[in-house]
Amino acid sequence: MADKCITRRDMLRASGLVFAGMAASSALGGCAQAASSGAAQGSGSTPQGAGSQAAGSQGAASAGSDEGFFIVGIEKGDEVWKRIEHKSYKDDCTVPLSDLRYLRALHVDLEGNVHEGEMVCNKAIAETVLDILRKLYEAKYPIERMRLVDDYDADDETSMRDNNSSSFNFRFISHTTRVSKHGYGLAVDINTLYNPYVKEVDGVTHIEPETGAPYVDRTASFPYKIDHDDLCYKLFVERGFEWGGDWTDRKDYQHFELPTEKVNELYPQ
Ligand SMILES: [Zn+2]
Repeated sequence: MADKCITRRDMLRASGLVFAGMAASSALGGCAQAASSGAAQGSGSTPQGAGSQAAGSQGAASAGSDEGFFIVGIEKGDEVWKRIEHKSYKDDCTVPLSDLRYLRALHVDLEGNVHEGEMVCNKAIAETVLDILRKLYEAKYPIERMRLVDDYDADDETSMRDNNSSSFNFRFISHTTRVSKHGYGLAVDINTLYNPYVKEVDGVTHIEPETGAPYVDRTASFPYKIDHDDLCYKLFVERGFEWGGDWTDRKDYQHFELPTEKVNELYPQ
Protein backbone atom coordinates (compact mmCIF):
# COMPACT_ATOMS: atom_id res chain seq x y z
CA MET A 1 0.00 0.00 0.00
CA ALA A 2 2.71 2.38 -0.99
CA ASP A 3 0.29 5.09 -2.01
CA LYS A 4 -1.20 5.25 1.44
CA CYS A 5 2.19 5.31 3.08
CA ILE A 6 3.32 8.19 0.98
CA THR A 7 0.13 10.06 1.69
CA ARG A 8 0.55 9.66 5.42
CA ARG A 9 4.22 10.52 5.33
CA ASP A 10 3.50 13.62 3.34
CA MET A 11 0.77 14.61 5.76
CA LEU A 12 3.15 14.27 8.64
CA ARG A 13 5.87 16.16 6.87
CA ALA A 14 3.41 18.95 6.20
CA SER A 15 2.51 19.06 9.86
CA GLY A 16 6.15 19.13 10.92
CA LEU A 17 5.87 15.77 12.64
CA VAL A 18 8.45 14.03 10.50
CA PHE A 19 11.98 14.82 11.49
CA ALA A 20 14.44 15.64 8.79
CA GLY A 21 16.31 12.36 8.78
CA MET A 22 13.11 10.38 8.58
CA ALA A 23 11.58 12.33 5.74
CA ALA A 24 14.69 11.74 3.68
CA SER A 25 15.03 8.12 4.62
CA SER A 26 14.69 5.58 1.88
CA ALA A 27 13.36 3.13 4.45
CA LEU A 28 10.29 5.29 4.78
CA GLY A 29 9.90 6.15 1.16
CA GLY A 30 7.90 3.03 0.47
CA CYS A 31 6.20 0.19 2.26
CA ALA A 32 7.63 -2.74 0.46
CA GLN A 33 11.33 -2.92 0.98
CA ALA A 34 13.14 -5.90 2.33
CA ALA A 35 13.55 -5.97 6.06
CA SER A 36 17.07 -5.45 7.25
CA SER A 37 18.72 -4.11 10.31
CA GLY A 38 20.08 -1.36 8.12
CA ALA A 39 16.60 -0.01 7.59
CA ALA A 40 16.29 0.67 11.29
CA GLN A 41 19.78 2.04 11.78
CA GLY A 42 19.32 5.10 9.66
CA SER A 43 21.86 7.22 7.92
CA GLY A 44 23.23 8.97 10.95
CA SER A 45 20.92 11.98 10.73
CA THR A 46 20.17 13.56 14.04
CA PRO A 47 16.45 13.33 14.65
CA GLN A 48 16.24 16.47 16.73
CA GLY A 49 13.20 17.70 14.90
CA ALA A 50 10.91 15.19 16.51
CA GLY A 51 12.09 16.24 19.94
CA SER A 52 11.48 19.88 19.29
CA GLN A 53 8.05 19.10 17.88
CA ALA A 54 7.00 16.92 20.78
CA ALA A 55 4.41 18.40 23.06
CA GLY A 56 5.42 16.29 26.01
CA SER A 57 8.76 15.65 27.60
CA GLN A 58 8.38 11.89 27.41
CA GLY A 59 7.91 12.01 23.69
CA ALA A 60 10.86 14.28 23.27
CA ALA A 61 13.10 12.12 25.40
CA SER A 62 12.61 9.06 23.23
CA ALA A 63 12.62 10.65 19.84
CA GLY A 64 16.31 10.43 19.21
CA SER A 65 16.65 6.66 19.11
CA ASP A 66 16.53 4.73 15.86
CA GLU A 67 15.36 6.19 12.63
CA GLY A 68 11.91 4.91 11.79
CA PHE A 69 10.85 4.76 15.44
CA PHE A 70 9.67 7.84 17.28
CA ILE A 71 7.10 9.31 19.62
CA VAL A 72 5.52 12.76 19.47
CA GLY A 73 2.81 14.57 21.37
CA ILE A 74 -0.49 15.55 19.77
CA GLU A 75 -1.83 19.08 19.78
CA LYS A 76 -5.21 20.41 18.77
CA GLY A 77 -5.07 21.47 15.17
CA ASP A 78 -2.17 19.29 14.09
CA GLU A 79 -2.52 16.59 11.45
CA VAL A 80 -2.90 13.73 13.92
CA TRP A 81 -5.54 15.67 15.83
CA LYS A 82 -7.48 16.27 12.64
CA ARG A 83 -7.50 12.51 12.03
CA ILE A 84 -8.62 11.47 15.53
CA GLU A 85 -11.06 14.28 16.39
CA HIS A 86 -14.68 13.01 16.50
CA LYS A 87 -13.36 9.51 15.79
CA SER A 88 -11.12 7.71 18.31
CA TYR A 89 -10.95 11.00 20.26
CA LYS A 90 -14.69 11.25 20.70
CA ASP A 91 -16.49 14.39 21.70
CA ASP A 92 -17.09 13.04 25.22
CA CYS A 93 -13.47 11.93 25.66
CA THR A 94 -12.38 12.43 29.27
CA VAL A 95 -8.71 11.63 28.65
CA PRO A 96 -6.63 14.79 28.15
CA LEU A 97 -5.05 15.01 24.73
CA SER A 98 -1.77 15.75 26.51
CA ASP A 99 -1.87 12.20 27.93
CA LEU A 100 -1.71 10.68 24.46
CA ARG A 101 1.25 10.10 22.18
CA TYR A 102 1.59 9.35 18.48
CA LEU A 103 4.05 6.57 17.65
CA ARG A 104 5.67 5.67 14.37
CA ALA A 105 7.38 2.31 14.06
CA LEU A 106 8.53 0.12 11.22
CA HIS A 107 7.10 -3.37 11.06
CA VAL A 108 7.46 -6.39 8.83
CA ASP A 109 4.65 -8.44 7.33
CA LEU A 110 4.67 -12.18 6.64
CA GLU A 111 6.30 -11.68 3.26
CA GLY A 112 9.11 -9.66 4.79
CA ASN A 113 7.92 -6.31 3.43
CA VAL A 114 8.69 -3.34 5.64
CA HIS A 115 5.82 -0.98 6.49
CA GLU A 116 5.63 2.28 8.36
CA GLY A 117 3.24 1.67 11.23
CA GLU A 118 1.56 4.22 13.44
CA MET A 119 -0.29 4.08 16.72
CA VAL A 120 -1.81 6.39 19.32
CA CYS A 121 -1.43 5.24 22.93
CA ASN A 122 -1.08 6.68 26.43
CA LYS A 123 2.14 8.49 27.36
CA ALA A 124 2.51 6.10 30.30
CA ILE A 125 3.22 3.16 27.96
CA ALA A 126 4.51 4.93 24.85
CA GLU A 127 8.21 4.30 25.50
CA THR A 128 7.57 0.68 26.39
CA VAL A 129 5.39 0.01 23.37
CA LEU A 130 7.91 1.64 21.04
CA ASP A 131 10.65 -0.51 22.54
CA ILE A 132 8.55 -3.64 22.00
CA LEU A 133 7.75 -2.66 18.42
CA ARG A 134 11.44 -2.06 17.72
CA LYS A 135 12.36 -5.48 19.08
CA LEU A 136 9.58 -7.12 17.04
CA TYR A 137 10.84 -5.36 13.93
CA GLU A 138 14.43 -6.41 14.57
CA ALA A 139 13.24 -10.01 15.02
CA LYS A 140 11.18 -9.75 11.80
CA TYR A 141 8.11 -10.66 13.83
CA PRO A 142 5.21 -10.31 11.41
CA ILE A 143 2.67 -7.55 12.00
CA GLU A 144 0.47 -7.12 8.96
CA ARG A 145 -0.94 -3.66 9.52
CA MET A 146 -0.59 -0.85 12.06
CA ARG A 147 -2.75 2.15 11.21
CA LEU A 148 -4.81 4.49 13.30
CA VAL A 149 -8.27 3.07 13.99
CA ASP A 150 -9.50 6.41 12.70
CA ASP A 151 -8.72 5.15 9.20
CA TYR A 152 -11.63 2.77 9.89
CA ASP A 153 -13.85 5.52 11.30
CA ALA A 154 -12.80 4.33 14.76
CA ASP A 155 -14.88 1.17 14.20
CA ASP A 156 -13.16 -1.71 15.99
CA GLU A 157 -14.87 -4.47 14.06
CA THR A 158 -13.80 -3.05 10.70
CA SER A 159 -10.26 -2.46 11.96
CA MET A 160 -10.00 -5.99 13.35
CA ARG A 161 -11.32 -7.57 10.15
CA ASP A 162 -8.41 -5.86 8.42
CA ASN A 163 -6.01 -7.45 10.93
CA ASN A 164 -5.06 -3.97 12.10
CA SER A 165 -2.97 -3.49 15.25
CA SER A 166 -3.87 -0.48 17.41
CA SER A 167 -4.29 0.94 20.90
CA PHE A 168 -6.25 4.13 21.64
CA ASN A 169 -9.96 4.29 20.93
CA PHE A 170 -11.96 6.20 23.52
CA ARG A 171 -14.94 4.49 25.05
CA PHE A 172 -16.59 3.87 28.38
CA ILE A 173 -17.04 0.35 29.68
CA SER A 174 -20.62 -0.59 28.75
CA HIS A 175 -23.25 0.77 31.15
CA THR A 176 -20.68 2.53 33.34
CA THR A 177 -18.89 5.88 33.48
CA ARG A 178 -15.53 4.10 33.70
CA VAL A 179 -13.17 4.46 30.77
CA SER A 180 -12.00 1.22 29.13
CA LYS A 181 -8.29 0.49 28.89
CA HIS A 182 -8.34 1.12 25.16
CA GLY A 183 -10.14 4.36 26.02
CA TYR A 184 -7.04 5.43 27.96
CA GLY A 185 -4.68 4.03 25.34
CA LEU A 186 -3.38 1.63 27.96
CA ALA A 187 -4.14 -1.55 25.99
CA VAL A 188 -2.67 -2.72 22.70
CA ASP A 189 -4.18 -5.15 20.18
CA ILE A 190 -1.87 -7.03 17.81
CA ASN A 191 -2.78 -8.89 14.59
CA THR A 192 -6.43 -8.74 15.51
CA LEU A 193 -8.04 -10.94 12.84
CA TYR A 194 -5.92 -13.96 13.73
CA ASN A 195 -6.18 -13.33 17.48
CA PRO A 196 -9.88 -12.71 18.09
CA TYR A 197 -11.88 -11.94 21.19
CA VAL A 198 -13.98 -14.95 22.19
CA LYS A 199 -16.69 -15.15 24.84
CA GLU A 200 -19.38 -17.70 25.52
CA VAL A 201 -22.74 -16.14 26.38
CA ASP A 202 -25.64 -18.51 27.14
CA GLY A 203 -24.04 -21.23 25.05
CA VAL A 204 -23.47 -18.92 22.10
CA THR A 205 -19.91 -18.14 21.06
CA HIS A 206 -19.38 -14.43 20.51
CA ILE A 207 -16.37 -13.65 18.32
CA GLU A 208 -14.80 -10.28 17.46
CA PRO A 209 -14.13 -9.78 14.68
CA GLU A 210 -16.78 -12.15 13.39
CA THR A 211 -14.44 -13.08 10.56
CA GLY A 212 -11.93 -14.33 13.14
CA ALA A 213 -13.95 -17.53 13.63
CA PRO A 214 -11.39 -19.73 11.79
CA TYR A 215 -8.81 -18.70 14.41
CA VAL A 216 -10.75 -19.52 17.58
CA ASP A 217 -9.21 -23.03 17.67
CA ARG A 218 -5.81 -22.23 19.15
CA THR A 219 -4.51 -25.75 18.58
CA ALA A 220 -4.65 -25.12 14.83
CA SER A 221 -1.63 -23.82 12.96
CA PHE A 222 -1.92 -20.45 11.24
CA PRO A 223 0.12 -17.25 10.82
CA TYR A 224 0.20 -14.33 13.25
CA LYS A 225 -0.94 -16.56 16.13
CA ILE A 226 -0.16 -15.27 19.64
CA ASP A 227 0.41 -17.91 22.31
CA HIS A 228 2.74 -18.46 25.26
CA ASP A 229 5.69 -19.21 22.98
CA ASP A 230 5.15 -16.05 21.00
CA LEU A 231 7.75 -13.26 21.06
CA CYS A 232 5.13 -10.53 21.20
CA TYR A 233 3.51 -12.21 24.21
CA LYS A 234 6.87 -12.50 25.96
CA LEU A 235 7.88 -8.88 25.34
CA PHE A 236 4.61 -7.45 26.64
CA VAL A 237 4.39 -9.74 29.68
CA GLU A 238 8.04 -9.11 30.60
CA ARG A 239 7.17 -5.44 30.81
CA GLY A 240 4.23 -5.94 33.12
CA PHE A 241 1.34 -6.21 30.68
CA GLU A 242 -1.41 -8.82 31.03
CA TRP A 243 -2.50 -10.92 28.07
CA GLY A 244 -6.18 -11.44 27.27
CA GLY A 245 -5.38 -14.99 26.21
CA ASP A 246 -4.79 -15.79 29.88
CA TRP A 247 -8.24 -14.69 30.98
CA THR A 248 -10.57 -17.48 32.09
CA ASP A 249 -14.08 -16.03 31.60
CA ARG A 250 -13.30 -14.94 28.05
CA LYS A 251 -10.32 -14.88 25.71
CA ASP A 252 -8.88 -11.87 23.96
CA TYR A 253 -5.86 -13.26 22.14
CA GLN A 254 -4.91 -9.98 20.47
CA HIS A 255 -5.01 -7.93 23.67
CA PHE A 256 -2.27 -6.72 26.05
CA GLU A 257 -3.11 -4.27 28.84
CA LEU A 258 -1.72 -2.61 31.92
CA PRO A 259 -3.03 -4.29 35.10
CA THR A 260 -6.08 -2.59 36.62
CA GLU A 261 -4.14 -1.48 39.72
CA LYS A 262 -1.71 0.42 37.50
CA VAL A 263 -4.52 2.02 35.55
CA ASN A 264 -6.20 3.07 38.82
CA GLU A 265 -2.94 4.64 39.99
CA LEU A 266 -2.74 6.67 36.79
CA TYR A 267 -6.44 7.51 36.71
CA PRO A 268 -7.98 7.30 40.20
CA GLN A 269 -11.69 6.58 39.97
ZN1 LIG B 1 -7.95 -5.02 23.10
